[in-house]
Amino acid sequence: DEIVHKIAAGEVVVRPANVVKELIENSIDAGAKNISIIVEDGGFSSIVVTDDGCGISKSDFPKVCERFATSKIKAVSDLDSIETFGFRGEALASMSYVSRVEVLSKIESCEHAYKAKYKNGALSSPIQPCGGSQGTSITVSSLFYNAPLRKATLSKPTSEFRRISTIISAYSIEYSDVSFRLSKSAYSVSMSATSSSKEERIASLYGSYHSKHTHSFSISVPTHPSSSSSSSSSSSSMISISGIISLPPSLSKSTSIIFVNGRLVKFDSLHRSIVGVVSTVTQTKHGFFIYISLHLPAGTVDVNVHPTKKDVFIQCEGDVLESVSDELSKLLHGISM
Ligand code: ADP
Ligand code: MG
Repeated sequence: DEIVHKIAAGEVVVRPANVVKELIENSIDAGAKNISIIVEDGGFSSIVVTDDGCGISKSDFPKVCERFATSKIKAVSDLDSIETFGFRGEALASMSYVSRVEVLSKIESCEHAYKAKYKNGALSSPIQPCGGSQGTSITVSSLFYNAPLRKATLSKPTSEFRRISTIISAYSIEYSDVSFRLSKSAYSVSMSATSSSKEERIASLYGSYHSKHTHSFSISVPTHPSSSSSSSSSSSSMISISGIISLPPSLSKSTSIIFVNGRLVKFDSLHRSIVGVVSTVTQTKHGFFIYISLHLPAGTVDVNVHPTKKDVFIQCEGDVLESVSDELSKLLHGISM
């Protein structure tokens, strides 16, 4: 049974960058406005994510690393939302099978914080009171200590750190009201995003030359009747699409950052259709930078078909590709290049 859990865990926790993604998503879900990430040895030695979110109550501590235990679903009617927003209660459980997990957390209504350690899906220490400020700090250390082969096949710490930094940069655009700070140790800040607008963050994280060449767009389109789910109210079947595209003359490589319902996803078909539009309109192999944030109705998307490897699954994919292409083509035609 433990072997099965360990294998399942290895599917969710593929590499340090995954761990960071899951931890910062939890911090965002907890309403954090400040998130600090400290990564040692590319995340193989330790990853510490500290936030000022709602915290975890003492009574919830035993459940934190329990498989399929999520606090984010309140009613059965929310079941559709589980997949839509990626709540499946698997991340921390999985981490506890392939690393050492330590949680320190304080909720507002409690005088002090609590801390505990976890192993193989359960508490491995008593829940102890301790000092701490409002929010949660999760430490994941000795990643893949029990899976040396996995560790050996992964990239070097420096390139793993780069992956982590890429993920945090993307999240800092989507959540421009949250401050992010990434460090290699407690004393050196490698990356920080504290400015307020998405455009400013793109310029500071991806190169200031973007600022002169960004164009934003925002549309809302209904899902095609045959592709939408059984939802009855019309407002809940709207797709909202917003984004920022940048085409600095010097750019040769293209980057797409795509969020679906607040989660960074792999969406290759959308990337390919954007490449198509840009090359058709500009008649060149112009590189571009694009950030797109899609909000889709509950029940039409599964952001976790496979947590890490496969593309996001969207029922109304056709509608999304078409709307984005139309909008970008209009936008690009209006830009003199
Ligand atoms: P999920 O996010 O799908 O619920 P996770 O395994 O990522 O599952 O987290 C399990 C649970 O632990 C969450 O539902 C939440 O209750 C709690 N939790 C994890 N991280 C935090 C955090 N940073 N702040 C508050 N609660 C958290
Ligand atoms: Mg989570």
